[in-house]
Amino acid sequence: MPKRQPDVRKLAIRQRWLVWMVLLSIVMQALPFVLDAYFSPSAGARLLYMIAIFAQFAALLLVAVGAIFIMLADGTHVVVIVLAAILLFAPCGGILILLLINRRATRLLRAAGLRVGLMGVNPDEVERILDPNLCTTCGYNLTGNLSGLCPECGTPLPLTPPTVPQ
Ligand SMILES: [Zn+2]
Repeated sequence: MPKRQPDVRKLAIRQRWLVWMVLLSIVMQALPFVLDAYFSPSAGARLLYMIAIFAQFAALLLVAVGAIFIMLADGTHVVVIVLAAILLFAPCGGILILLLINRRATRLLRAAGLRVGLMGVNPDEVERILDPNLCTTCGYNLTGNLSGLCPECGTPLPLTPPTVPQ
């Protein structure tokens, strides 16, 4: 089987999504405690509590799905994806696998010239850096440019279109 190449554009979008899902998951983990603290025991409170537990589970599932989609975009071997998916649901294993997946995604994105912040890569920057027709400094559309310089900011155009690192 040929080695799959990382899809940097998808990777950037999916890493960002994973960060949001992890945040959502953290909020959902706290929800039952908040309900416990502020609602007196009643049928309504019990229903809310059950909805919170369900939302908690759904958020964890979305994190796992996000992690699997990142591996699908970053060229991870299918066998490794299956093993990692199983470990994602193992007690204590999940967080370690998540950190490894996120670290690999960050490394690949940085190698492609993208700045990876706390919330992943800014979507505008993904387009600017990865679209060979846009100026990498200011995002100006350089289609058909003959001067070799960006007319907006003066950045010299790369001689070859940006390539995805091996
Ligand atoms: Zn420019």
